[in-house]
Amino acid sequence: MKLPAEYKALVSAFDSLPGIGERAAGRMARWALNRAGGDELAQALQSALLSIRPCERCQIYISEDHCSVCDDLARGHEWLAVVAELEQAQILCDLGYSGQLFVLHGVLSPVAGVGPSQLPLAALQQRVSSIKPNTVYLLLTGSVEGDVTAQYLQRFLLDSHTLMQSFSDFIAQPMIGGAK
Ligand SMILES: [Zn+2]
Repeated sequence: MKLPAEYKALVSAFDSLPGIGERAAGRMARWALNRAGGDELAQALQSALLSIRPCERCQIYISEDHCSVCDDLARGHEWLAVVAELEQAQILCDLGYSGQLFVLHGVLSPVAGVGPSQLPLAALQQRVSSIKPNTVYLLLTGSVEGDVTAQYLQRFLLDSHTLMQSFSDFIAQPMIGGAK
């Protein structure tokens, strides 16, 4: 049976998603082709790719020049929390964390082919030298990759006072909302 090259390309595109194997990628491709949801998915993806980009300062996704986190004057500059994923930044905001944020969008992982050049380290360095926080919280520990990344960043941010902590330990502290 010869299937169209476009079908194989679609399966391959889904297969490249993190945590998706070839079988699941095949199911997703057939779902996208069999339902109206496929159209909606394609439009949402195209629209997102055209309008969304990471904020140059914190890497949180924005669709205009204004960043609701970096431009929030109520946020103090004493703390900078570095997290691996966007959802963690969202959780911190929901909990009332009032310091600055930076999202790495990943951690160093030789197995997954993620090296320092794949992470926005120049932007992190720029952010640190711009706001000069008293403490940079590296909320990345708790996994082998996270530990390695936190240690790497600690060396990378030589002149800054850094503390390594797991994200879950950090959000368990009652002081988060008061950090200014
Ligand atoms: Zn920002």
